[in-house]
Amino acid sequence: MMNQQPLYFLNTLSRQKEEFVPINPNLVGLYSCGPTVYNYAHIGNMRSYLLSDIVRRTLEQNGYPVRQIINITDVGHLVGDADNGEDKVEQAARASNHTVADIITQYKSAFLSDLSGLNIKTTETIFPHASQHIAEQIELIKKLENKGFVYHLDDGIYFDTKLYDKYPELGHLNLDGQTAGTRIEENAQKRSPADFALWKFSGLQSTRLQEWDSPWGVGFPGWAIECSAMSIKYLGAHFDIHTGGEDHIPVHHTNERAQSECATGETFVNYWLHNAFITVDGKKMAKSEQNFYTITDLVAKGYSPLAYRYFILGAHYRSPLNFTFEALAGAKRAWQKINNMVWAWPSGGQCDEQLLTTFMTAINNDLNTAKALAILHETMNANLEPSTKRATIEKFDEVLGILNEAEVLSASELTPIPEEILSLVQDREIARERADWGRADLIRAEIEAKGYEVEDTPEGPAIKSRN
Ligand SMILES: [Zn+2]
Repeated sequence: MMNQQPLYFLNTLSRQKEEFVPINPNLVGLYSCGPTVYNYAHIGNMRSYLLSDIVRRTLEQNGYPVRQIINITDVGHLVGDADNGEDKVEQAARASNHTVADIITQYKSAFLSDLSGLNIKTTETIFPHASQHIAEQIELIKKLENKGFVYHLDDGIYFDTKLYDKYPELGHLNLDGQTAGTRIEENAQKRSPADFALWKFSGLQSTRLQEWDSPWGVGFPGWAIECSAMSIKYLGAHFDIHTGGEDHIPVHHTNERAQSECATGETFVNYWLHNAFITVDGKKMAKSEQNFYTITDLVAKGYSPLAYRYFILGAHYRSPLNFTFEALAGAKRAWQKINNMVWAWPSGGQCDEQLLTTFMTAINNDLNTAKALAILHETMNANLEPSTKRATIEKFDEVLGILNEAEVLSASELTPIPEEILSLVQDREIARERADWGRADLIRAEIEAKGYEVEDTPEGPAIKSRN
């Protein structure tokens, strides 16, 4: 049955909560900026794909079929993030002595396996590669050139942002204060600092591993043009929803919107949704901070990717979220309890329509997953038949995606370990990570004195009661 409640999204473009009205209710277009496949995605990156998954599941729950695109950036994303520096994928290939194709295959498949672990729906999702849509990108640049939006510089073809007066809208940008050359790596020839490359030339001494012919010279596409070309190809010039991390707002998405609207003359996207960042122990995730975790790292430490999914859904997607292993352990306990209870209840019950309405009201209110999880917990404790509770929670799970019967633990595995012991085990892990073996042994002795045993397994520390 079609859910008749209104659906609202906070639109980054208007900064307002707006009711969702599809362009075509029989097929809603959803574009999510995908990974640059030069390295493993970290858990912060995965928050964007969890957002697009919740958007898709919510649309489907509201009765809208969805066509979803997640692009694979395998060319044109430069180390400088702007229009300078080495191509990230090519740099990774050179550094590891692999071919570009090997790098793309390796990191794309790691990405797909992360999506699958996180229970992110990918049936019928299209994952187009930038390198396989060069012709479409050239066509789009030609359109922009014919309409007078581009200019030629020594190193490439640039978009003139001054000719598109809506340019600052999405990012609420104040471009007046910017002058060319404020950033040392800026191309001083550009007419305005915000102007960006649509096509870059390989140059005479090209060492590029990927390059193509174009009407302007041999080279490669700029980073943003792929998303415009592929979204227009698969979703049309005007589509419903575009998602991504909030870091994309001021440059990447602003540029996508500018070149798409100027090329087609149509509104590009109706609703822009952006997720906030994740910090780790209060700090920005970075390799130099040694706080860069992947889903594989979490699994190695004994956490199901679904526990991480539950952790992410505990906060609104637009709120910054601080990740700690303590918080993840808390999320894991709550998530484990849900799985254990729900699968122990008999199947075949009827969904409680009133609870479902309450749940959908929360989800339809700009994807309030934190509230939706609170309703799930209320349902678990409600005075209802267990089979009704199971059926209702299974219905919620079509949006939440946190249930998995294979994750149910036996009663002995579930015996709660006291906080004090968990905290000692955590301290011991930190000591071990710092190779402080003396301290790690002292903590182990303390844990044993309190009646518990800790065993180091490839999946992380396993804790057992000694009684
Ligand atoms: Zn993009």
